[in-house]
Amino acid sequence: MIATTCAVCETDTADREVYADTLSADAATSQRFSARRTPDRVHYRMVRCDNCGLLRSNPILSDEELARLYRDSSLTYEDEVAFARRTYGEYLLRCLATYAPDIELGSARLLEIGCGNGFFLEQALASGFHDVAGVEPSLEAVQMASPSVRGRIVNDIFRDGLFAPGQFDVICAFQVFDHLPHPNDVLKTCREALRPGGLALFINHDVGAWTNRLLGARSPVIDIEHIYLFDTDTMPRIFEKHGFEVLDVFPVANTYPLHYWMKMAPVPASWKTKVIPALKETGLGRMELSWRAGNLGLIARNPQVTL
Ligand SMILES: [Zn+2]
Repeated sequence: MIATTCAVCETDTADREVYADTLSADAATSQRFSARRTPDRVHYRMVRCDNCGLLRSNPILSDEELARLYRDSSLTYEDEVAFARRTYGEYLLRCLATYAPDIELGSARLLEIGCGNGFFLEQALASGFHDVAGVEPSLEAVQMASPSVRGRIVNDIFRDGLFAPGQFDVICAFQVFDHLPHPNDVLKTCREALRPGGLALFINHDVGAWTNRLLGARSPVIDIEHIYLFDTDTMPRIFEKHGFEVLDVFPVANTYPLHYWMKMAPVPASWKTKVIPALKETGLGRMELSWRAGNLGLIARNPQVTL
């Protein structure tokens, strides 16, 4: 296991243990590192940095082990993809309308970090983007991508050297940022890959949302996949540290059918296996509900002038 430091303060001197780990010897399986799996309350020891309030896992698996787990992870999105695609697509268009009204989509390039099977890349192309690219560590996810985007996905961890400086107008990351062992490296690389004036749109968990605070260790965000857990205060701080101009931080409303919300709810797994398949067959279970379920969005700009 590898010790971590606070990603905002880059120190471990202000650590306070918040949750003891719940790891067993067989905890680190690629199934557990698969997107949208049913939460099972397996997590590392979690500490809070008393300087800045950032919550993080410490210690964690090595970079090599994490890379292997994500490479072998499977795609368990199933029918949720269509809903996520619509939600993220709407937030992207709203972000562009507000902060880049003059953008020429016909010549614009978008990068998505952690693009899974590329469902959002398809959405971006449908919205009129000239070109899209994705980075995704899961081999299975890339293999399952539609032919229209598969060739545009790099099967790798997002890192330095994959793209040319200033290549993108927009960089997106959806439910990815809290999974990264080195968020500072990612933001540095992100800023280099964005053209001056380019926008970053990140959506991830807000550990400070009332739902997550209320549930504490029972919240699905307290999970082995999450290394740094941000809130509306620490998220802009880490972006500003890398010279981004933070334009907005906002609560995200996700729309999913009721049966998906039940899957993520903090109720016993035995209950879920009985109720959810039945719920999927009913009109009630398929009813779409929009809810601010404890996610935050951040929009930042790569300033025209190097800071
Ligand atoms: Zn800190």
